[in-house]
Order: sequence, then C-alpha cells, then structure tokens
Amino acid sequence: MSTGARRSFRLFDLRVEIVAVKPGLESVCNHHLGDAFEVSGENLSIPAGKTFSMYALAAVLPLLPAKQRVTDEHDWMSHDDHVMCPDPHCEAKMRISRIGMREFFLDEVSASARERSSDG
Ligand SMILES: [Zn+2]
Repeated sequence: MSTGARRSFRLFDLRVEIVAVKPGLESVCNHHLGDAFEVSGENLSIPAGKTFSMYALAAVLPLLPAKQRVTDEHDWMSHDDHVMCPDPHCEAKMRISRIGMREFFLDEVSASARERSSDG
C-alpha cells in the first residue's frame, strides 16, 4: 500500500568539539581546544589535517544516534551535552551540539524497508 509520498524522517546534524582541557596535561591525549568533528547521518567529518582522539571518540560515539534524534523536551538527552574523555588523568571535556536538521528518505537508508515495501 503506497500513498505516493516518500517516507522520510529528520535527524539533527551534530558537532562534537573539545571545549575544555586540563592545563598542563593537554599532551597526555593530544586534545586541543577546538578539535572537532561533525556528524551527518552515518558520516563523521573531521577537517582536513586535523585529528580527533579515538579514545575520546569511543566515549562520545554511543550518544550520537540519540542526539541526532528529536527527544522529548524533558528528556535528559535534550539538555545534557557534555562528555568527558575516558582517560582518568585527562579531564578533557567535549560538547555535542545540534547544528542543523536534515531529511532522510527511508528507502535510501534501509534495505529492510525496501524489502518490505516490495513484498506488496
Ligand atoms: Zn583525554
């Protein structure tokens, strides 16, 4: 059953940025203030020539799919946006920001949905 309209959904684009480092220990993890990457759909983008710690990435990665989605205004996910580097000596802080909204079409991102719609 098709209504003719393509099924779509929207996700936030995200930016993850190092916003605080502990003075004197910055070199432990090689974080630098302003180090950042952006998330659009399933894609991460790091500016050319820049780096981002894979350990810091590992700490923030599980939160990104939830942050991409619209959450209830009373959900903590709507308000809490800071994540610490997992190195206990580091204390670097990252901030996840919602920087935009993008529309995705279900038939372009889900083979399962494509199969179900072709089952008739
Ligand atoms: Zn660190």
